[in-house]
Amino acid sequence: MAESIYAPSYIKEQLLARNLRMQKKFGQNFLISPAVCENIASASAETCENPAVCLEIGPGIGALTLRLSEKYDRVVCLEIDRGIFPWLSENLAERPNVTLYNEDALESDFAARLAQQKGEKLAVCANLPYSVTSPLILKLVESKLPFESLTLMVQKEAACRFAAQVGDESYGSLSAYLAYYGEVKRLFDVKEANFYPRPTVVSTVIRITPHKEKPVHPNNEALFFSVIRAAFSARRKTVYNCLTSALGRTKEEISEALETAGIDPSRRGETLGLPEFCALADALVKE
Ligand code: SAM
Repeated sequence: MAESIYAPSYIKEQLLARNLRMQKKFGQNFLISPAVCENIASASAETCENPAVCLEIGPGIGALTLRLSEKYDRVVCLEIDRGIFPWLSENLAERPNVTLYNEDALESDFAARLAQQKGEKLAVCANLPYSVTSPLILKLVESKLPFESLTLMVQKEAACRFAAQVGDESYGSLSAYLAYYGEVKRLFDVKEANFYPRPTVVSTVIRITPHKEKPVHPNNEALFFSVIRAAFSARRKTVYNCLTSALGRTKEEISEALETAGIDPSRRGETLGLPEFCALADALVKE
């Protein structure tokens, strides 16, 4: 049975037999290429030695899960769709190292679900639902769990944003935020023909490797994040205008902080790197 889950004819037949439909609202585009699943699972597993547990968000009917279960000691999956859940459970019935939860990953307690054992490494691997890619990545980062890596398939355009560096056209607040969290690497593209149903855009597998040592050390991390968000709040405005309208500080405070940090107030947020955001946030702590 296991390998038949990669055949569109099997998926169509099962949808009909189970009176189910693919749910667009859940971003359901299932992988139908065993080779692509193998490549994603291998790219994830090579980042951490066993014993290790892998968190998979959105297993669908288990295409990637099957491969992950061959590489990890344990795989913990969170799937939101109640309709496909019994089907997913059947497909993985013979994989005792896989634990499935029928729940919204945005509401999950990741630490409780992973129940990390002593000495066990953690990783994340997922073909993410595109409509909630950013909130899911933020939730994973904010969980502060010690992941060795996050190997994620996202839309190509989102991958460019996440991996963007200062000066790149797609550099934004999430690029800066993720650069603070870890190293973001684009691994490989996956064409539309590898999914059922076919999406309209190309996907990219990225790997986020959390930093062991953060690249900067802001005195107040929450303020540092607020400064990053504020600096990108309006794309064509200067950093001075963005901060005065989005940070709830007086114009004098912003001017002084920019001067202390050595940043020209007429620059735009997209020209600032982490050291400058950090200097700016630290200057505002003192204001
Ligand atoms: N992993 C499967 C594959 O590669 O074939 C399916 C990937 S499909 C792009 C995204 C999956 O995420 C779907 O199964 C969808 O139901 C599930 N999903 C969507 N939103 C979710 C959420 N908030 N929490 C958990 N699963 C979610």
